[in-house]
Amino acid sequence: MTDVPCNGCRACCQGRELVVLHPSDGDQPELYHEKFFLPGDPGRWVLKHKANGDCAYLGAKGCTIYAGRPAMCRAFDCRKFFLRVMGDMNRHERRAAYADGSVDKRIMKAGLERVPSLSREEIQQEALERLRRRDNAADAQKRR
Ligand code: SF4
Ligand code: SF4
Repeated sequence: MTDVPCNGCRACCQGRELVVLHPSDGDQPELYHEKFFLPGDPGRWVLKHKANGDCAYLGAKGCTIYAGRPAMCRAFDCRKFFLRVMGDMNRHERRAAYADGSVDKRIMKAGLERVPSLSREEIQQEALERLRRRDNAADAQKRR
């Protein structure tokens, strides 16, 4: 897997996106002081935000806990997110997702700009997964 060339972009850390801690993926909640239980879901820790919406761990030079950032942060790839959204949603659905905030336009833009840095194999893998998702959705539709 190629690393995302963030090059100073902080879109992931500045939205209201919830960073959930996943002990099953190696996160150790006790290491994060800036966290709270997700309302209505006691037992699920999420990182706090500052008043301006930034992640509590975002500093002037980027993530202040980069080496120990949560699994969600390590795993997120805006390039693959972009390809997934473009593949799974039509223009109308995308507009609705931007409007209700479920898809962050800035992350989409960052992903679009960085897609060329994915390897050919990674792009093929994404395309295969997209076909798989479509097949599964079609199967589910038939079963209704
Ligand atoms: S949107 Fe992409 S480039 Fe920007 S911080 Fe997130 S992963 Fe990095
Ligand atoms: S923990 Fe670090 S990488 Fe993750 S959202 Fe916060 S500032 Fe960004």
